[in-house]
Amino acid sequence: MEIRVLRGPDVRSLLPMAECVELMHKTMSAVSEGRVVLPLRSVLVMPGELGMMGNMPGYLGEPECFGVKLVSLIPGNKPPHYSSHLGLVLLFEVEHGQPVALLDAAEITAIRTAAASGLATRLLAEPDASDLAILGAGEQARSHLDAMLTVRRLRRIRVWARDSSKAADFARSEGSRHGVTIEVAATPRAAVLNADIICTVTKAREPILLGEWLAPGAHLNVVGSSIATAAEIDTPAVVKSRFFVDYRGSTVNEGGEYLRALKAGAITPDHILGEIGEVANGSKVGRVSPGDVTLYKSLGIAPQDLASAHYVLQKARAAGVGQVIDF
Ligand code: NDP
Repeated sequence: MEIRVLRGPDVRSLLPMAECVELMHKTMSAVSEGRVVLPLRSVLVMPGELGMMGNMPGYLGEPECFGVKLVSLIPGNKPPHYSSHLGLVLLFEVEHGQPVALLDAAEITAIRTAAASGLATRLLAEPDASDLAILGAGEQARSHLDAMLTVRRLRRIRVWARDSSKAADFARSEGSRHGVTIEVAATPRAAVLNADIICTVTKAREPILLGEWLAPGAHLNVVGSSIATAAEIDTPAVVKSRFFVDYRGSTVNEGGEYLRALKAGAITPDHILGEIGEVANGSKVGRVSPGDVTLYKSLGIAPQDLASAHYVLQKARAAGVGQVIDF
């Protein structure tokens, strides 16, 4: 039995953002068409403030494979030394059920999450949306900048972080990496003023973004709050949005903003207009008018990891990348 081991730099070089956005288009359509088996992830919460381990299994019908992502989430971990999600994706082939690849989960998570937001932005934002606000300055902020530059022609980019020196570092390093100017905003409100695209990619547990600040026509990717008890945006922001999700089953269990708004009686379950895969395959309408505020709630699902892992493995085999271990 041979297992190909693919490290972070291998994943990064074999999974460019533009290719991953296309991959997410196919994958999220497959999710919404039921061509996956997707149990809810389980989370092991360790005692005290130690952190969590997420267990995300799944099966994909096309390309046919199955597997699991196992990641730790340790609160004190900070990039660049430690990613917020450390772990592995283990991919199996279906004929004999043999494991065929072991891949760095941090890099896959960073790229596939942003690529899915890129897909949502391509489908839901105004075609000429060009003013981007990013709230947060960590790993997902970096990959989301990459994704937003991939799907829209941006003329203005603002970043806000609770530590302004980290926002300034982000603006400098990412600005020079992409050859763009990034402004540092002093407050979340200043960052999103008249923004067309907003990505919330923080670890905030309480809202940092208020609905009253949103300009007509804005599109939001709400990504950071990926557990039921966290909400990066307030209930009025949820209420005023055309609300789309990655996977309905996850949102009704773990979508912090959705659950808060529901509990407050501000929305009913039919506030979820659809999954992004339904917009991708044309069975649901995303934006109806230029003044709509659209929202994509991302929680992250195993098919995104498996599709990415499978894609990277095929390219790695063709290019002879990675280390093959004989078991
Ligand atoms: P990083 O640790 O790299 O970055 C986290 C960012 O959030 C930093 O800018 C950090 O600031 C900021 N932050 C932390 N606490 C707060 C707070 N209370 N208020 C405002 N900002 C805060 O993490 P990632 O970029 O990898 O992940 C960001 C979030 O996205 C996490 O919550 C993660 O769980 C989630 N995530 C969601 C995925 C999905 O599929 N939806 C996939 C992967 C991640 P500072 O540096 O000052 O601490």
